[in-house]
Amino acid sequence: MTGFDSFAMVDWSGGNDTGLSERKDAIWAGVVRKGRAEEPTYLRNRKIAEQWLHDLIADEIASGRRLCLGFDFPFGYPKGFARALTGSDDPLRLWDWFESRIEDSPKANNRFDLAGEINRRFGGKGPFWFNGLRRGIDGLPKNKADYHNPFPERRCVELNPETKGSFTCWQMGGAGAVGGQVMTGLPVLARLRRAFTGQISVWPFEPLDTPVAFVEIWPSLTLGAGPKDRIKDAWQVEQVALSLAGMRPEELANHLNVNAAEEGWILGVSQRKPDIAPPPLRNDCFALPAGVSWTPVDDALALLRQRLTVVVPVETIALPQAMGRILAEDIIAKRSNPPQPNTAVDGYGFAGAMPEGAQVMPLHPGRAAAGIPFDGTVPHGHALRVLTGAALPAGVDTVILEEDVTVQDGHIAFRGPLKQGANTRRAGEDVSAGDLVLSAGRRLTPADLALLSATGIAKVPVRKTLRVAVLSTGDELIEPGDKAGPGQIFDANRPMLLSLIDRMGFQPVDMGRVSDDREDLRDRLNAAAEKADVILTSGGASAGDEDHVSALLRQAGAMQEWRVALKPGRPLALGLWEGTPVFGLPGNPVAAKVCTLIFARPALGLMAGEGWQDPQGFDLPAAFEKRKKPGRREYLRARVRDGRVEVFASEGSGRISGLSWAEGLVEIEDGARHIKPGDIVRFIPYGSFGL
Ligand code: AMP
Ligand code: MG
Repeated sequence: MTGFDSFAMVDWSGGNDTGLSERKDAIWAGVVRKGRAEEPTYLRNRKIAEQWLHDLIADEIASGRRLCLGFDFPFGYPKGFARALTGSDDPLRLWDWFESRIEDSPKANNRFDLAGEINRRFGGKGPFWFNGLRRGIDGLPKNKADYHNPFPERRCVELNPETKGSFTCWQMGGAGAVGGQVMTGLPVLARLRRAFTGQISVWPFEPLDTPVAFVEIWPSLTLGAGPKDRIKDAWQVEQVALSLAGMRPEELANHLNVNAAEEGWILGVSQRKPDIAPPPLRNDCFALPAGVSWTPVDDALALLRQRLTVVVPVETIALPQAMGRILAEDIIAKRSNPPQPNTAVDGYGFAGAMPEGAQVMPLHPGRAAAGIPFDGTVPHGHALRVLTGAALPAGVDTVILEEDVTVQDGHIAFRGPLKQGANTRRAGEDVSAGDLVLSAGRRLTPADLALLSATGIAKVPVRKTLRVAVLSTGDELIEPGDKAGPGQIFDANRPMLLSLIDRMGFQPVDMGRVSDDREDLRDRLNAAAEKADVILTSGGASAGDEDHVSALLRQAGAMQEWRVALKPGRPLALGLWEGTPVFGLPGNPVAAKVCTLIFARPALGLMAGEGWQDPQGFDLPAAFEKRKKPGRREYLRARVRDGRVEVFASEGSGRISGLSWAEGLVEIEDGARHIKPGDIVRFIPYGSFGL
C-alpha cells in the first residue's frame, strides 16, 4: 500500500536548542498535503519537534489521511550491532533500548557518555568515536588513531556508490556527522510508535499497512543547497516532500521495494537485487506428445515456448555497458524529458499568442541559453533572446524563429499570427517522470540507451548473458588448416554456429570437436554443462550406430528425439545433460543452420530472458517456380533482388555455398503448393533472426 495523502520530511539535529529566530542548524520539517507544499516549520529543539510530530500524526490520522513521514538519519546500525546490545536482530528493539537510556533536554544530553558506555562493552576502542565534550570519556576515542570497530564500518546502503560521501553512524560529532542524530532521534521515534501503537509502520522493517509510515531519507543525496535566499535544510525538506508527493504510486512502490531487514535503507537509493538463480528446467521439458510420428513445426515451437523458462540470473550494471543486454525489470523514468519547458529554436521568447499582422516589441536585456537559464521575469509585452534548448524563463511561453524577426533599436518586429506555445517544447512532452519507459525482456538498443540516459537512469538490472556451448561431433572432422586425409572434411559447423550465437547476442563458448567416441563425448558434455547454460551440438543426432549424441542423452534418461516435419532437417535430439539443455542439431551445415534459426534461436531468447520472439517475415512475389508435396514445412535459401524473391539453384543440404549466397529464408507452409513466378511467398531476412 503506497498511496499517501500527505508527506512530511524532517531534517533532524543532534544539537541543542537553537533559539527563537529561525536558524539553519535546527530541526526543519516540510509538509506537502494533497500535492500542496506548506511553509517549512522551524523546530528549535527536539522536545518541541516531538510534540509537533505527535500533533501532526494525530491530525493526519483523525482526518483519515495517510501520512509518509521521513527522517534524515539511519533507522538501523550496521549488521550485528542490534543483536550485540539487545540479543535480537530487530532494529525496533534497539530503538527501545536507546529510548530507555538516552536522557535528552533542550540544553544537554548524555549521548557521548552512552557511546562510551557501549564502547566499554566491546573493549573501549569503538565502535563509536569522537567526543564533543570538554571532559574525557572512558572508552570513547577522540579520533580514529587507536580506533577498533568490532562491527562493519557501514551499512549495506552506505556501500552503494550512489551514497558516496555518507557519514557512518559511529561518528558521534564533527561537521556532517550523523551519530548524534541517530542516538537522539531513535528514542523520539520509539516514543511516537508507542503513542500510536498499530498506526505507524517503519520502512523497511514492517509492511506499510498502517495510516502512517516512517521512512529514512537523505535530502543531500539528490539536492543541492537550493536558492541563496532560503535556508538549505528548510528548502531541502520541502523539495523531498514535493518530489515524493509527485511520484506515481508505482514509482514510489518501486523505491520502497527493498530488502534491508536489520540495517534499514535510504529511500531512493537503488538496491542491487541478489543474483537469485531461476529454478532449473524440468526433466520432461522436451517430451513430445506420444503417438505422433512427425510433429508439425508450429506444434514443436509451441512446446518449446510452453516448457522453457529463463535460466540466467539478474545483475545490475552501468548504462554505458548495457548495449545489447536484456532488461530484467520494467524501467520507470526518474526524470521527465524534457525536464522543463524549453525553446525548440533560436529566436525570441515572450508571452503569446500573437494576433495577425505586424508586431513590435521591446527587447528585454539578457538571454537564455541551454544550460544557462535566465533567472528573472520577462515583463509582459517584452521579448527575450532565447537559444535552442534554453529553459523558458518566467513570462515566456511562446517563441518566434529568429529568421522571421527584424531586430533594431532595442526592439524586435515580426508578423503574426503566432499560437501560444509556438516553437516550444512542453515539460515531459516526450516522457514524464514515473512513466514506464522500457519493459522487462527488452534487448537494449543504442536508442534505448539515449532514452534511459535522458530519463535519469544510470544503472539497469539486466540478465546475465546466456552462455551457449558449441560442440562438433564426427570422426571425419578436422580443423581447417590441418592436413586432410582421405574421407576427412573440415569442420564447417562450429565457426558458423559460434558466430551465429555471437550475432544473436548470446555468449558463445567454444567446446571444440569430439570424435564419435561415447566416452570422449560424455567428458566433453560434462565440461560444456559446467561452462555454459545451453549446449548446441552438431552431428550424431539421428538414431544410427554412430549417432552418439542421441544415444548418450537417451542413456542419461532425458533425451527426446524430435522428428519435426521440416526440410531441411533430420531429427533433432533434445535433452537435458546434468540439467543443462542440449540441442542436438543435424550434421549437415544447411540443416544445422536452419534448425538453429527456426528452433534454437527463439528457445535461447526465452532462456536468456527476452521472451519468445517470432521472426518477422515479409510477403513478396517469387522469382522462381517450385512444386511442393504436403506434410512438411520447407525453408529455402533465398534473397531479394528487384523486389522479387530468388532461391538458390540447388536444395541439397550439404551445399554450403547456398547458405553463403542467401540473405534469408523462404518459408513454405506445411500443405501442398505450386509456386509460380509472381506468386506471393514469405521471405524472412537473416536480420529478423537477429543476425
Ligand atoms: P551426421 O548428422 O553426423 O550423420 O552428419 C550428417 C552429415 O553432415 C555428414 O555428411 C557429416 O559429415 C556432415 N557433418 C557433420 N558435422 C559436420 C561439420 N561440423 N561440418 C561439416 N559437415 C559436417
Ligand atoms: Mg556424424
